[in-house]
Amino acid sequence: MPLMKSWVSTANAPDHPFPLNNLPYGVFSTADLDPRCGVAIGDMILDMQSAEETGLIALGDLPLFDVPFWNEVMEAGPQIWAALRDRLTALLAEDSPERASVEPLLVQMDAAEMHLPFIVSEYTDFYAGRHHATNVGTMFRGPENALPPNWLHIPIGYNGRASSVVVSGTPVRRPWGQLKSPDHARPAFLPCRRFDIELEMGAIVGTPSDGPITVAEADANIFGYVLLNDWSARDIQAWEYQPLGPFQAKATATTISPWIVTRAALEPFRTDTPPREFELLDHLKDCGPMLYDIELEVTLAPEGKLATTIAQTNYKEMYYSAAQQLAHHTTSGCPMNAGDLLGSGTISGAAGSERGSLLELSWGGKEPITLETGEKRSFIEDGDTLGLHGHAQGDGYRIGFGDCMGQVLPALEDPFAR
Ligand code: CA
Repeated sequence: MPLMKSWVSTANAPDHPFPLNNLPYGVFSTADLDPRCGVAIGDMILDMQSAEETGLIALGDLPLFDVPFWNEVMEAGPQIWAALRDRLTALLAEDSPERASVEPLLVQMDAAEMHLPFIVSEYTDFYAGRHHATNVGTMFRGPENALPPNWLHIPIGYNGRASSVVVSGTPVRRPWGQLKSPDHARPAFLPCRRFDIELEMGAIVGTPSDGPITVAEADANIFGYVLLNDWSARDIQAWEYQPLGPFQAKATATTISPWIVTRAALEPFRTDTPPREFELLDHLKDCGPMLYDIELEVTLAPEGKLATTIAQTNYKEMYYSAAQQLAHHTTSGCPMNAGDLLGSGTISGAAGSERGSLLELSWGGKEPITLETGEKRSFIEDGDTLGLHGHAQGDGYRIGFGDCMGQVLPALEDPFAR
């Protein structure tokens, strides 16, 4: 599919993240407007609350845009999702006869503050990138036991905290936690010394389910995708994770990018999962090209300094797709809701420059990386801003995600001070 042209001219530039082919969904506010749903087109945002109030958008019987989150659209179902996308495409297309009615409802993106685009009903995080799992397993258990015996048969995950999910731009405070202390008999309660990122994609469930669903059904239930940074306290994690998995190491914050890129926008970029060593059980088998070709990048900027790209990889490196993770999630009968967020797991490629965490990039701190400023990093230092960036490259256009940014603030001097 080529670039679809819009009368919003900035949307037609070949490297712009938000062409008419994309139409991602967010929630924004300005000095004059309360938080509300918006759709990105070029360097503008279409105010969906006003578009519905003026009758330009009229889908179904109930208002969908009288609330500042996209969950009501998700719950309205796939027919409404398709009708909304068709309507937005018609309104914003180069030859739209309704341009004069739409133009007053556009807001400059520069003037907008972005908010969480949906109410995160639950958050689950997986561990489904083979290179990442192999790297981490090699560091912690040696190359012989890098992948646990279950890893090639099920997408391993843990239940995270929806309350800790924040939108891009929210500062993240270095946590305190209990650390194993090699020099002392007792562990110590200290600020985290090995604070890290994890480069992930987040899949958002749109259609609820109550009981086991197939991989094909799971795929159809996914509303869209965001970039996701699963901030991780490695030293807290190393002490607490056995036998029940991560807990406080992952509970400080999880940052997501502000725009939900819909499954429909990503459809042209579908690609196969990697070759499988063992055949998956029938209920987890691929039912077509399950992944997407999305180029991903991690940047690190020391406070007040230029950013360095510290990793580049691709979502197609995942071993399990979001649909397979969602299908697996439901096998127990676990109900899934609109607004359920599923983290893919850290996305790393085979090469050293393709690793989606500092833990891997610095090989557990043994091989610090050098930034373009000349500084070295094993893990995050106070004041560093970490960024995730991603896009699918089309023929003369891009489907961009918007950036997923967060600056790390110093740990509190006394976490219990009141
Ligand atoms: Ca993770």
